[in-house]
Amino acid sequence: MNAGAHGSDTQTILVSTDVLNPDGSLETLTSDQLQFKYRTSMLQSDPRIVTQATFQLEPGHDPNVVRAETAADLEQRRTTQPYHLPSCGSVFRNPQPKSAGWLIEQSGLKGFKVGQAQVAERHANFILNCGGATASDIFKLIRHIQDIVDDRWSLQLRPEVQILGDFQAA
Ligand SMILES: Cc1cc2nc3c(=O)[nH]c(=O)nc-3n(C[C@H](O)[C@H](O)[C@H](O)COP(=O)(O)OP(=O)(O)OC[C@H]3O[C@@H](n4cnc5c(N)ncnc54)[C@H](O)[C@@H]3O)c2cc1C
Repeated sequence: MNAGAHGSDTQTILVSTDVLNPDGSLETLTSDQLQFKYRTSMLQSDPRIVTQATFQLEPGHDPNVVRAETAADLEQRRTTQPYHLPSCGSVFRNPQPKSAGWLIEQSGLKGFKVGQAQVAERHANFILNCGGATASDIFKLIRHIQDIVDDRWSLQLRPEVQILGDFQAA
């Protein structure tokens, strides 16, 4: 899914992956062949299974600088994202130029609940399970957010998470 944060992503450091093809053969794919884009790669619509990956990290930093940068990134996440209740992380991809969280917050949806699923007060692009939320609660809340943001900004938010199953919004 080309996960990333703090100005970098998987694509930036991945050199190649070994994959198992449906016919049982093994193949090595380069980063270019994986067709990475923002939070996507061709693996999401492909039956091949990754068995191994080679990453190229960047050497030469002072360990103290690395520790300080890591601590600052962790602190930034802890203070801007909710970690006190379960969530699946960011729900929607970020459109340009405004983030999904900003659009949802400006639509007045922080704290909005469907059943036990709630738009987080700390970061509006997170949906929290406040205890016993069902997948259906979360799906309905996703649809509600999309409708409100579309009404207000004429913009269709696209989920970053993958939705499995046959859910009804009504
Ligand atoms: C609290 C929280 C915060 C998060 N913050 C961020 C963030 O800042 N940035 C970000 O980008 N994401 C973020 N995420 C999302 C998370 O990083 C991604 O969902 C991540 O890719 C999940 O990886 P996984 O292996 O745990 O998930 P999985 O569900 O196991 O895998 C994700 C996808 O990869 C496929 N897959 C898994 N294994 C293989 C394999 N061997 N071969 C081929 N395909 C495979 C699965 O089928 C699925 O489509 C966050 C999630 C949470 C819960």
